[in-house]
Amino acid sequence: MSLPLYFVGPWDLHPDLACVPPSPTAGTVVLIESRAKGSALPYHRKKLVMILSAMHHFAEDLRARGYTVDVVRAETYVDGIQQTIDNRGATEVHALTPREWGLAQALEKATFSVPLHLHEDGGPGGHFLLTKQEALDLLSAQKKTLRMDVFYRAMRKRFGVLMAEGKPEGGKWSYDADNRKPAKGVTPPPTSVVQPTPLTQKMMERVSRWPNHWGQVDGFDWPVTRAQALTVLSEFLDQRLPQFGDYQDAMLNGEVWMWHARLSTALNLSLLHPMELIAAVEARYAEGRAPLNAVEGLIRQILGWREFIRAVYWRQMPGMRSANHLQANRPLPKFFWEPERTKMKCMSEALSAVKTHGYAHHIQRLMILGNFALLAEVDPIEVSHWFWAGFVDAYEWVELPNVHGMALYADPSFTTKPYAASGNYINKMSNHCRGCHYKVKDKTGPTACPFNPLFWNFMVRHRELLTQNPRLSRLYGNWDRKTPEAQQEAIQTAQDFLDSLEPSDHGWSFHDDAC
Ligand code: FAD
Repeated sequence: MSLPLYFVGPWDLHPDLACVPPSPTAGTVVLIESRAKGSALPYHRKKLVMILSAMHHFAEDLRARGYTVDVVRAETYVDGIQQTIDNRGATEVHALTPREWGLAQALEKATFSVPLHLHEDGGPGGHFLLTKQEALDLLSAQKKTLRMDVFYRAMRKRFGVLMAEGKPEGGKWSYDADNRKPAKGVTPPPTSVVQPTPLTQKMMERVSRWPNHWGQVDGFDWPVTRAQALTVLSEFLDQRLPQFGDYQDAMLNGEVWMWHARLSTALNLSLLHPMELIAAVEARYAEGRAPLNAVEGLIRQILGWREFIRAVYWRQMPGMRSANHLQANRPLPKFFWEPERTKMKCMSEALSAVKTHGYAHHIQRLMILGNFALLAEVDPIEVSHWFWAGFVDAYEWVELPNVHGMALYADPSFTTKPYAASGNYINKMSNHCRGCHYKVKDKTGPTACPFNPLFWNFMVRHRELLTQNPRLSRLYGNWDRKTPEAQQEAIQTAQDFLDSLEPSDHGWSFHDDAC
């Protein structure tokens, strides 16, 4: 009997919400391993293990529930869908609208032999809180620069999250100002390891043999099933949430996870629903088990940033990829791929975490890696490709706006100023500077922390643009008070450092739209 076919991508793996037939006998399901997608970038091997293992676990789970499921290896997603239509004699195809622009385009343009029905990824029954159109409408209600805080307030009201009689809980919308404590002398809670299942071990074995990919499979411990994701969630709620707010921006040597949730991968695979996380966190506050600054801080990331970023992506694509507002054009330094090549302790800590785990926490992404690439004026698309390939949670819809918009100011549509900082900020928020080869107190010369001269070099080069921002224009007073000799020395130190950077030469290729 001919039946509809349901294509489930690895962004649609929630056991109850995925786009599958309404009953096990009402259609067949296909998951596709696309060779083009898997080799589009030199993805971190742990990311490939995670995606493959999550897909295969999902397929096993569906089969155990009586569904007919194919897992197909094909050149592209489109080829895999057509092959399965032919093999199964399918009458029509259903799928969730893909989150990445390239695949969405490919599916919309594909000429399958039967009709394709694309379903909404957000709103009731979807994996985001808003439908794509609702998210875009909420953005278009804003006039000039798109503001996350405006979007977030509207989301709080719309979903009634942390609201008390129409007002924000505790009287303030954001407790961000309370969430900037350094964590010096404090030890983060231990993190338990997600044990690889036999199926995950099989994928580790498979991926370990693949050439042209970054990182190693050893030590893989990302959640790949809903049960594992729920375990990571409950550990976060019990161990980390109460201090998540206080130390949200802190960094410590040798501490990869700090008080962070480690849940972006599970959310992006749709093993967890964002409202499930929000509700669990809000409940901890209601029970008096977590303070408001922590709870609001976490909820802002999910209800605010995550939904906002997705809306911005769809609003700005495809132009966002080539956006380069500051005309940055330096090649990505080699040490991004080979962290042992940098003597900067903060960079080495963040880069090593990415190489080992496929992860660095938010403030490392923004204020260490992003800040460095911004100040060194690295070509945004090179930075973006590195993030996309190297981070286990990176997909273009979330990586690109964060890198091009938030970190590099290459697309200035939703940030009012670049997140540029000198070594002082890093010294305040971390213990990296003690024991670093460079001296954070030195502003010029070969021992100076490179962030110091790079900061002024950047500020001077973009003075005409940045001086228009009142928060930045005040800083130029500090520069103007320096003697011409001191100014010249700072620029020269920056130039010497930039000249010493070796460009990456791995020869890997990047194909943004391959799928
Ligand atoms: P926590 O710090 O504990 O935060 C909780 C959750 O909030 C995260 O799991 C995530 O789902 C959400 N969140 C927080 N900030 C953002 C944000 N700015 N955009 C979207 N979601 C957010 N996140 C990704 O999921 N994939 C990416 O590829 C990615 N690239 C980034 C690149 C840069 C340069 C920056 C500055 C941020 C990026 N982020 C990305 C956002 C954020 O850094 C990660 O979501 C977070 O570090 C994941 O770790 P966690 O789960 O421990 O998060």
